[in-house]
Amino acid sequence: MKFKKLLIATASIVSASPLLTSVPVFASTPQPVTTTVTVSSDCSSPTAINANPLGRYSKVKLTVAYNDIDDPDDATEGETLHVYDTGNVFDQTVQVDSPTVTFPTFVTPDNDNVYGCVNGYDGDETATITAEITPGPCQPNTTLSGSSWVSQFPTSTSTSDLVDPFRTNANNFIGALQNAGASVSISATYRPPQRAYLMHYAYEIARKNMDPTDVPLRSDVAVCWVHTTSNGSVDHAASKKAAADMVKDYQIVHEPSLTSNHTQGLAIDMNISWSGTMTITDGNGKQVEIKAPRSGATNSDLWAVGASYNVYKLASDHPHWSVDGH
Ligand SMILES: [Zn+2]
Repeated sequence: MKFKKLLIATASIVSASPLLTSVPVFASTPQPVTTTVTVSSDCSSPTAINANPLGRYSKVKLTVAYNDIDDPDDATEGETLHVYDTGNVFDQTVQVDSPTVTFPTFVTPDNDNVYGCVNGYDGDETATITAEITPGPCQPNTTLSGSSWVSQFPTSTSTSDLVDPFRTNANNFIGALQNAGASVSISATYRPPQRAYLMHYAYEIARKNMDPTDVPLRSDVAVCWVHTTSNGSVDHAASKKAAADMVKDYQIVHEPSLTSNHTQGLAIDMNISWSGTMTITDGNGKQVEIKAPRSGATNSDLWAVGASYNVYKLASDHPHWSVDGH
């Protein structure tokens, strides 16, 4: 079998870095790539026409020429050529020495492959299959965007996922709060960058009209942002709806950034409350009295105690404390 190199524009998602890759999937209109493969194999070992599995809604147009070299008048042999895809969208049998035929374009299911083979190959038949393949908007084996992603890559609520020395400082501050009788409820520490990526681009598509085909891929998040109609064209309304569902289920209020102190293990969201007057030991070993308001969100005396532990409050974000106040 002989392959021309099949370049699928969407195939280059392998990332050298575990962090965000900024490789665009493709421009808004994916371009068709043509490859020609010679098939001279029996159907016990079919010849692959595409080099890489195809993602859903790839478009394939096949042109087939099939000749029996030693027996051009087909007087004694009648082996047929079988051309088909694994998703059972395309399945054609071609008679030997028939005229070259171009079949109508078909749209693939996810993770599809196209094969050709000769039924009863005896060595003197040659088929040439030219495939014009337009990559679909999704990599193979991806899951469409939508609410199902929200439970993936969960945010930690444990200080053990923070990075030192901030981890130790946060633990010391929380320990002092608990010794002073405060109630501390942690809602977020480390946010995986994959989650930040999903949150960020869901917001961009849903709220800022980003074209879903322009979202860069991450090799470690098998999401497809582009929803499609049954004929394979981009369904912008469905893509935006799925992103909006994610924004809602993530409970996103402000535009999420791709990198933040949370994605670096340098921030903690926690609700802190107490009753009466709390006497707490600050980071310098000094006893400090904290009265009303009895909430970590609003009591700037407590913020000063946090700062003595190198845990700094972001005033505009009620539960948020970090390494630098951002
Ligand atoms: Zn936060």
